[in-house]
Amino acid sequence: MRIFERLESEVRGYVRSFPTIFTKAQNAVLTDEGGNQYIDFLAGAGSLNYGHNNPVIKQALVDYLASDGIVHGLDMATSAKKHFMRTFEERILKPRKLQYKLQFTGPTGTNAVEAAIKLARNATGRQSVISFTNGFHGVTLGSLSLTGNKKYRDAAGVTLSNVHHAPYSGYFGHDIDTIAMLDKLIGDPSSGVDHPAAVIVECVQGEGGLNVAGMNWLKKLEQLCHRYEILMIVDDIQAGCGRTGTFFSFEPAGIRPDIVTLSKSLSGYGLPLSLVLLKPEHDVWKPGQHNGTFRGNNMAFVTAAAALDHYWNDSKFQASIEKKATIIAQFLDKLVQSYPAAAITRRGRGMMQGLAFEDPALADRVTELSFQNGLIIETSGGRDEVIKLLTPLTIEPEKLLAGLDILEQAVADTVGEMNSQPSKTKKVTA
Ligand SMILES: *Cc1c(COP(=O)(O)O)cnc(C)c1O
Repeated sequence: MRIFERLESEVRGYVRSFPTIFTKAQNAVLTDEGGNQYIDFLAGAGSLNYGHNNPVIKQALVDYLASDGIVHGLDMATSAKKHFMRTFEERILKPRKLQYKLQFTGPTGTNAVEAAIKLARNATGRQSVISFTNGFHGVTLGSLSLTGNKKYRDAAGVTLSNVHHAPYSGYFGHDIDTIAMLDKLIGDPSSGVDHPAAVIVECVQGEGGLNVAGMNWLKKLEQLCHRYEILMIVDDIQAGCGRTGTFFSFEPAGIRPDIVTLSKSLSGYGLPLSLVLLKPEHDVWKPGQHNGTFRGNNMAFVTAAAALDHYWNDSKFQASIEKKATIIAQFLDKLVQSYPAAAITRRGRGMMQGLAFEDPALADRVTELSFQNGLIIETSGGRDEVIKLLTPLTIEPEKLLAGLDILEQAVADTVGEMNSQPSKTKKVTA
């Protein structure tokens, strides 16, 4: 591990939480240099919805490489890109009666967000964008200005501007209608809130602590956007690609966002690929006006198409997500009830659920103990107080249960420590 400490910048992150050297992985299990195995409840922060080295997807990639298929092609037409676009249209857009054009951006999620807000500003001629409390949209300057978390914002080094942060669904508790508040602010010529180009929203906030937007809240947000001719952007980078149970996280709300961003699990194999979906009437781009050397990675097109073909051609995969989501919810509910001293609540929906701790130190300790017992799991939320279960959607049921058992044991041990040495894990108020 020493070279990582000596040579890699202090900015390194996950390697600190999981200090071992990984060598191999299959579906939901990682193996390290010592031959130790870990169950993966992090899944590349939601980039591995179909697991590590998914055999079906891997075969498509191996065949493509063996045939000398184009690997890098800028944004030239390739057979891999054609096949991806056809598959995306047939498997995803048409069955949902969605009409979008596709913009391939640079390969990371933040590239898609930057393109989305730039497009919204160009399409409307307005500057300001509304984003929501606890939202996370990436760390390049435009995306960072939309992101709520102070830890990331403080690193900007310049003023983050042209964004108004509005309260998310349930931010003040469920009795307070935050859409009505936003409506009043936008409608009032003296509120100080400029008429925005767009709103950007996650239907379930991934990094922000698994806060779930109400379906009715999303519907009302869409109506508000229509009323004021504001573009609605859904950032589905983490919650999309089946994570919440449907391909897009907004499907149960019955809304049709103007712009959707996808990345993380889009390639299906952990390869970098990002996509902006835009309603044709907003496609005001001039040729080449927004570019990038690595737009549309052909290897990722191959794996993405294989994933869509295999998992999204009928409702079986969705049914399996729903089943596992129920197992997770029931397990977590029972866990919450069993350890009242830990003051935990369950958060999230679909296979994007977790445990919110009143005391962030407990959440931290639970993830640490989990790792010691062979489970990789991380925290999220404004104070890192929410343990987030992001297992591959393809996780074997027995691995899911084994991981949940390790998690429960870690909670039990943390509560045990709390009782024996209260000053160590619980903040003592003098
Ligand atoms: C991860 C994430 C991003 C940023 O993606 P990167 O690939 O890390 O740039 C943006 N939005 C959401 C909702 C995310 O979860």
